[in-house]
Amino acid sequence: MRHIDRLPEPQILTDKHDEWQKKFDEKRKNNPNARPDSTKYGNKNIRETLDSCSHFKCFYCEATLKGDLKEIDHFKEVAIAPELAYTWSNLYLSCHNCNDKYSHDVIPLSDVLDPCSDTDNEIKKNITFEDECICAQPDSKKGLQTIRKFRLNSDAQDFKRLKWLKRIKDEVIDIQGKMINEARNQFTEEEEKKSLLRFMQRDQPYSLMSEMYLRKHLPSLFI
Ligand SMILES: [Zn+2]
Repeated sequence: MRHIDRLPEPQILTDKHDEWQKKFDEKRKNNPNARPDSTKYGNKNIRETLDSCSHFKCFYCEATLKGDLKEIDHFKEVAIAPELAYTWSNLYLSCHNCNDKYSHDVIPLSDVLDPCSDTDNEIKKNITFEDECICAQPDSKKGLQTIRKFRLNSDAQDFKRLKWLKRIKDEVIDIQGKMINEARNQFTEEEEKKSLLRFMQRDQPYSLMSEMYLRKHLPSLFI
């Protein structure tokens, strides 16, 4: 998870919000369990703006999402906040894993991190990584609950992060091989900035895990 800078509301929502919400409110009068229309909040213009907010990544786990893998999550669940069904600030881009979250009844939002309101520093105070495994910072209940709620430590998530970590390790081995061949013990500026530190930029998948990995294994990059 990294902080998400939310872009301005897409025009379609500004134009249609009231009309869509009114229809949904009417639907709920007959069926309190009715769901909002996903073809509306999943409008192309809304999806594209969410893509741009997170560089095509899940807001929660930082997996890069393509095509059908993208889902739109109501951060405050429709069951507890039906009035936010079409509210821009409540729509988050999510992968299927994270969208399959524990409900408010089990883990309330007040117990978890919110990528749109919590800063990177706040996120790092609560969650960290041991290689591909995500873990809560010591004594962080919020870290634990965030990992649980969005199932950030599922086997599938570990596997995807492990694959990405292999890419970083391969890059490191490649660079270290060059250093041995060239009898030098320092990275070039290009190796540092364009190859290694690039992995922790916010447009990259799993950038927080990558940062933790680089800080642990290549501390000289941060001096
Ligand atoms: Zn996810």
